[in-house]
Amino acid sequence: MTVKFPYRRSLGPVIGAFMNGLADQKIIGIRNGDQVMVPPLEWDPQTGASLAPDFVDVGPAGTVENWTWVAKPTPQHPLDHPFAFALIKLDGADTALVHAVDAGSADAMSTGMRVAPKWKAERIGHITDIVAFVPGETAQTVEGGAPEEPVTMMEYDAEIKYTLPITKNVQRAEAAAQEGRFLGLKCPICERVYTNGRGFCPIDSIELTSEHEIDLPHTGTLTNYTVITPTPYPGQTATEPFARVHVWLDDTHVILGYQTLLDVANEDIRIGMRVKAVWDTSGKTQENPRAEGSLVGFTPTGEPDVTDPDLVNKLL
Ligand SMILES: [Zn+2]
Repeated sequence: MTVKFPYRRSLGPVIGAFMNGLADQKIIGIRNGDQVMVPPLEWDPQTGASLAPDFVDVGPAGTVENWTWVAKPTPQHPLDHPFAFALIKLDGADTALVHAVDAGSADAMSTGMRVAPKWKAERIGHITDIVAFVPGETAQTVEGGAPEEPVTMMEYDAEIKYTLPITKNVQRAEAAAQEGRFLGLKCPICERVYTNGRGFCPIDSIELTSEHEIDLPHTGTLTNYTVITPTPYPGQTATEPFARVHVWLDDTHVILGYQTLLDVANEDIRIGMRVKAVWDTSGKTQENPRAEGSLVGFTPTGEPDVTDPDLVNKLL
């Protein structure tokens, strides 16, 4: 499971100058009194005072002030093999820049070592225009492109990847959902019911297996809802406000969160509405099971609303 957020930000006159300098294989800092800050900032970090755009070239070589070894890089890291993240004080600078050092092994790293940048051939005005710093005094410059227009925006993704085991219980729960069934696991001690193939009762600390499985009812009561106004992030296909509802399944402790509500306008949704599950098992194949199972959503049963002021407290 990958959670990924795209960001787009404007660079402004100071970070923008720094990024455009990188495209030209130059690293610039900004004067702040008798100090030079790299990377440059628009304001003095101590006082908040605005700084004049008095830029100065620094480096390209510098000294490692501190470092940490990344033995197993992830796809988000700048290099696909082990490297160090280091604080590098470039010659002529008074502050340190964080960047990667490609030294081959942790044994080759040391505080006080000298490093210089290795540049990309195709530069876009981004911190990754420097592939990494490498041991030595000499920058590895390359012929190659810089953008024709000055860079004013930066786009990047924040990404976290989770790897979760799919247990036998989860497999059976998903198989049941493909068939249009809610599968629960009932604790033999406290009689609480869990969904989504949860393998244990957290109250009694016992394992729950196939012998504890029960089929859950398909009717329930709406306890909470949220109307979501979609923003156009990548992957969002909805364009109109839509609702997600919490459904308390009858005769259980099970609340199904963030479900789709069918056939009801957003302004007509009420806490206490009686609803039933709608399944679509027509499109399922062995090769192409639906990740979400075959549950389409919930639709009103037409029964009178439940009037219990405690309903709103049933969220989970
Ligand atoms: Zn229990």
